[in-house]
Amino acid sequence: MRSPIETDAVIIGAGPVGLFQVFELGLLEIKAHVIDSLPEVGGQCIELYPDKPIYDIPAIPVCTGRELTNNLLEQIKPFGAQFHMGQEVTTLEKQTDGRFLIVTSQEQRFLSKTIFIAAGVGAFQPRTLNLEGLDAFEGKQVFYRVKNPDSFIGKRLVICGGGDSALDWALHFAGKAASVTLIHRRDDFKAAPQSITKMRALCAAHEMQLIIGQITGFESSDLHLNAITVTGIDGELRHVPADDLLLFYGLSPKLGPIADWGLDIDRKQITVDTACFQTSVPGIYAVGDINIYPGKKKLILSGFHETALAAFAAAAYLNPEKQIQLQYTTTSPKLHKVLGVGSSRFE
Ligand SMILES: Cc1cc2nc3c(=O)[nH]c(=O)nc-3n(C[C@H](O)[C@H](O)[C@H](O)COP(=O)(O)OP(=O)(O)OC[C@H]3O[C@@H](n4cnc5c(N)ncnc54)[C@H](O)[C@@H]3O)c2cc1C
Repeated sequence: MRSPIETDAVIIGAGPVGLFQVFELGLLEIKAHVIDSLPEVGGQCIELYPDKPIYDIPAIPVCTGRELTNNLLEQIKPFGAQFHMGQEVTTLEKQTDGRFLIVTSQEQRFLSKTIFIAAGVGAFQPRTLNLEGLDAFEGKQVFYRVKNPDSFIGKRLVICGGGDSALDWALHFAGKAASVTLIHRRDDFKAAPQSITKMRALCAAHEMQLIIGQITGFESSDLHLNAITVTGIDGELRHVPADDLLLFYGLSPKLGPIADWGLDIDRKQITVDTACFQTSVPGIYAVGDINIYPGKKKLILSGFHETALAAFAAAAYLNPEKQIQLQYTTTSPKLHKVLGVGSSRFE
């Protein structure tokens, strides 16, 4: 087993609020490790609306989910947070020395003095295809994410879904795989219009195939998946030979293990003290969409405010004897030092 990473702060969730928590902790010279179950940072902004405009971020009249995420990443650069992506935090336990032991789905362990839960609406998990026995092929011939694209080259691929992931991968593998069959339940796609046009052109050129229908069965022999059965909207059954099945039915958030960490929870959200955004366990803070308190509004700007108060509270928790002064980034030489900037933007 790998030895634990010892640190002052762990942030669970790399959504906009988790990212800004890095900034607020950084100003107080607290370094953080950030863990997220998704492979990419940005939380809902990237998973659910990367290209949609947001109009209510103070002083940014309009930006997309992706632009907001990129700006936050730029803003937190000086603080050198370490990211541990693609792993869900499964357990969180207080140790006898007062620190918290965190274990992730990749068996990475952390021993941290403080924890910031910025887990939004929970960890995003791929929606699975519920066909009895199909899970036996998961990770071998059935995939909900593409980790190693080269492993699909030359294969007979069946790709399911109507969003950007399904179409992007179908277009990517057309001409590289032995065959590409795209299956979607209706002839209406959520993917980018240019991808839909390209997909239809490839189908017309017989470089890939589109079937409108749903997977209702599969054929296998000797623990090997050979084909899938699709029931078309016309009710007709089709057998499609397949080496690999790539399923992109979207992601759904699940509160998951957070419910078992012994924190006070109200309607699937963590209750906090609004003076400091501490949970019912001292040293554990909850910020952003995951928390609940009277008047809570699930907005990014609310989450940003919460991170500042949580950071100040954590600084006092980590160093109870130290006086923590509020300083302005405009005028404080100390903050300029931690930000790695001159005292004027023109220096
Ligand atoms: C379509 C849409 C449009 C929106 N538009 C706006 C808008 O215009 N303005 C606005 O202010 N808000 C908007 N919102 C809401 C806004 O996106 C959320 O308030 C914001 O994303 C909350 O940020 P967060 O960091 O708290 O959580 P999230 O963005 O949900 O990020 C949480 C992260 O935590 C991770 N996580 C959860 N559990 C675990 C675990 N156990 N282990 C590891 N990782 C975990 C998740 O994978 C996720 O990446 C919109 C939301 C949607 C769906």
